[in-house]
Amino acid sequence: MLTYLNGPESDPFNYIYSSDEWLYGYDPPRPFPFWVNLEPTNHCQLDCLFCSRQKSTRRLGFLDLDLARAIFGEMSLWPGSAVRLAGWGEPFLHPKLPSLCAMAKEAGVAVKIYTNGQKMDRRTLSALIDSEVDEIQFSFQGLNEKQYHFNRVGGRHARLAQNIELAHDLRGRRPRPFLSALTSVLADELAQASPQAFCDRWLGLVDKVAIDLTNLNFVSDLPRVQPFLPRQSEGLRRGRCVDVFLALEVKYDGTIEFCGQDANSRPEHTAGRFPALSLKEAWDGEPLAAQRDRVGRALGHESSPVCRNCYHNTNKYDLFKNLSAGPSPAGQSPAGPNPAGSNPTDPEGTNP
Ligand code: SF4
Repeated sequence: MLTYLNGPESDPFNYIYSSDEWLYGYDPPRPFPFWVNLEPTNHCQLDCLFCSRQKSTRRLGFLDLDLARAIFGEMSLWPGSAVRLAGWGEPFLHPKLPSLCAMAKEAGVAVKIYTNGQKMDRRTLSALIDSEVDEIQFSFQGLNEKQYHFNRVGGRHARLAQNIELAHDLRGRRPRPFLSALTSVLADELAQASPQAFCDRWLGLVDKVAIDLTNLNFVSDLPRVQPFLPRQSEGLRRGRCVDVFLALEVKYDGTIEFCGQDANSRPEHTAGRFPALSLKEAWDGEPLAAQRDRVGRALGHESSPVCRNCYHNTNKYDLFKNLSAGPSPAGQSPAGPNPAGSNPTDPEGTNP
């Protein structure tokens, strides 16, 4: 469920979401990915119910600015390619986030930042606004404060709300950054609170509100998750993977992965390491080509320890299509005609 304050054209990345390649023609893959998902850090302050980070055994660290400069340098050769700062940690914990973003923008690379909205200050936000970061997406959970605190262990809803207001006020009348709010819900929570009320609460302070179903499949073996699995997994079907045609994942240490779903950078889910391997070489290389054959053109998910838990691009969005929430005054943007449109390879599905 996706609602815009001023229509999809106001979205800085609408050129991607509305392109034929995104919606219909992603195979054969374009010469370079639409998105490079780049991890500023895998440090995080929260312990969210749904997050695969709780199973991660990776060493903690931060993206080096020289490495980032080289990545943005290569991306600058491919106009239209954009970076999403996300990964298995909270980007605002990176001590040089404003420099990182300024560097991308100077290279001509558009930037979207994902954040849990817990650690922000006026100076950092002002620097990001001055460098004309394209989008900041705030991650909620559930549809109200109670649901938020249940899912986002360690987070404070009031602090998130306060920081959204701060970003909104500091931006003022400037067009950038586009502000968005994403939440995901457990199926049980949908019966207890209204998606429309969530939308009405935040649209206006932000420019886009997206609501999704929480993906628990990557943490389905954890005891605290299991009570919610039966309802959350109802009707899941396997779908062909579109992520491997549209985006590339780069971890803070330069590891290039097939997608953002593996919290442990397993070698069988990895193309190589930047800069020894360039992004273009990884995109065109044999490991990713084989992965496209395996899960993008066939349903060979069971052969991969990561993909066997993946039910992206399924009928989970049908639940929302059946909701009777009327269009907001600002209008709604329906899901696209194929899975890529309804699931824009968004790491938020499992990774805040
Ligand atoms: S884990 Fe899912 S998104 Fe990632 S490559 Fe496998 S099927 Fe695609």
